[in-house]
Amino acid sequence: MTKKYEGRAVGIDLGTTYSCVAVWLDENNRVEIIHNEQGNKTTPSFVAFTDNERLIGDAAKNQTASNAENTVFDAKRLIGRKFNDSVVKKDMMLWPFKVVAGDNGKPLIVVKYKGQEKHLCAEEISSMILTKLREIAEKYLDSPVKNVVVTVPAYFCDAQRKATIDAGAIAGVNVIRIINEPTAAALAYGLDKRSNFVGEKNIFVFDLGGGTFDVSILTINDKDFQVKATGGNTHLGGEDFDNRMVKYFVDEFKRKNKVDITRNPRALRRLRTACERAKRVLSFSVVTTVEVDSLFQGIDFFSSITRAKFEEINMDIFEECMETVKNCLTDSKMNKSTVNDVVLVGGSSRIPKVQQLLKEFFNGKDLCMSINPDEAVAYGAAVQAALLSEGFKNVPNLVLRDVTSLSLGKLDFGDIMSVMIPRNSCIPIKMTQSFGTVEDNQTSVLTEVYEGERTKASDNNLLGSFILSNLPPAPRGYIISISFAIDENGILTVTATDKSTGNMNEISINNYKERLAAEEITKLIKEAENFHIEDKKFLKKAEVMNALDYCVYKMRNALNQTKHNSKLPSKDINMINSAITEASNLLDSSQPVEIEVLESHLKDFESMLEHIITGKE
Ligand code: AMP
Repeated sequence: MTKKYEGRAVGIDLGTTYSCVAVWLDENNRVEIIHNEQGNKTTPSFVAFTDNERLIGDAAKNQTASNAENTVFDAKRLIGRKFNDSVVKKDMMLWPFKVVAGDNGKPLIVVKYKGQEKHLCAEEISSMILTKLREIAEKYLDSPVKNVVVTVPAYFCDAQRKATIDAGAIAGVNVIRIINEPTAAALAYGLDKRSNFVGEKNIFVFDLGGGTFDVSILTINDKDFQVKATGGNTHLGGEDFDNRMVKYFVDEFKRKNKVDITRNPRALRRLRTACERAKRVLSFSVVTTVEVDSLFQGIDFFSSITRAKFEEINMDIFEECMETVKNCLTDSKMNKSTVNDVVLVGGSSRIPKVQQLLKEFFNGKDLCMSINPDEAVAYGAAVQAALLSEGFKNVPNLVLRDVTSLSLGKLDFGDIMSVMIPRNSCIPIKMTQSFGTVEDNQTSVLTEVYEGERTKASDNNLLGSFILSNLPPAPRGYIISISFAIDENGILTVTATDKSTGNMNEISINNYKERLAAEEITKLIKEAENFHIEDKKFLKKAEVMNALDYCVYKMRNALNQTKHNSKLPSKDINMINSAITEASNLLDSSQPVEIEVLESHLKDFESMLEHIITGKE
């Protein structure tokens, strides 16, 4: 039986550009997408650092243009990757923030916070977004949230999944399950439409978001949701369309004004924001304008772009998407005519060309757009969260069976990838095979674990290696048993056992070399708490400054009135005037002022104010 967790768990769609949190409400028999303090149901996956404070979500995104170097986004594109990864190198050229190599080749984001340089890993940035989403949920539910289900792209590899769990640990939440984004969306769709389903239905989920692209094919039979195949690209999405448009206009600006803006992060960021807006408009209009005042060296930028041009500059990306669709169907061994519904998920699935190509591919089938593409993933995650929590009576008793996205295997003699678990295998799964030693009296066996689809092991992604030692002296061919086990989160444990002696060794999460070590996570949790304490301090100081400012305003008014009534002795008036001047200077000071100083001024003002109003000493 599946383990159930105590307390209310929420579902989180931790997106590249936007994130969303949702909860199953047993009392209302439905999922609620929770809005943030701005009233928005999605929150930008942005974190910004300034001289005074740390901002997360809308507040961070809104100040991007003026603080581009210290505003971090796209952490999901970095998570679980190495600094030398070609994908990281390419992205770095487009980001206004700096990324450097840390220990073990881990990419670290460099920001300036309160005047000091800080190096943060992608897990830390993701943990800040997770913390924000948890707070949004806690405020709405008016109770603490400890457990979460987080979604990841189906194509996330082992390291990226584990890094996402680590991000949860740093945020102080327990990630009770990782589920694939298209599977979560299918859950939302299936739940919504289940009453109309008769028998078995094959659903194709096309999920094109801000930075990732996923496709999945599932069979839904009443309560049973079985993923058949999945495919995608963890590095393709709306931002690529934005980048193409930015490049198009950078070239145009260069042609017209003979200046290159590519080395100016602020100009690039402002142009990118305008391009993202234009891209959205082109989903509904056939032409739109792009305007940025004083884009570079005081030159205003004004231009337009047609939908046809937008499609032309992105055509190869659209075609790549369709290739992935085809491959997924081939993997599932299904014919496209057996697909009952094609479900669109992710903001970029609104692009008309994408919809047209998809419709043509499925022989003119109408695409299902009935679920909100921005919310479906969080919706499904919330259902899964309720299914894993104790005490929910009304949540539909669904069974979700997902698959692995990449093949997993070990290195065999001659650099051969010996596949132990083929991709698209149903999880959880455990596969065991016996292997013989290759030399007489071999005392140890090295197991190297890889993920990927290439025949040569070294062309795949090395996940880790370990040694089983103390083998008894024996002729070549001494049997060792090796097991690969993948749990419900898609996370792998490999074990090697000498059955005759019971001796064993395994790669567990803790000694996995790419992962944050337990003590590093503890250190980052401490740092996250410090960030939180600083945020709180900042907020408290802002509140005191606000109150003092209001007091000064009220005092000026009160003074003006009493002057007319001339109730107050002139020595009091002088004292109050100098207090007003002092407080105004403090409020306008460019130097940091201690909160205690502000509080003491506030207290003095409050008693002076009472004295004026009531005439009491
Ligand atoms: P998601 O990760 O699903 O929240 O998708 C975010 C991406 O969808 C961003 O790149 C947005 O620019 C893009 N997006 C949102 N609405 C539209 C639209 N109407 N047309 C084109 N792209 C959109």
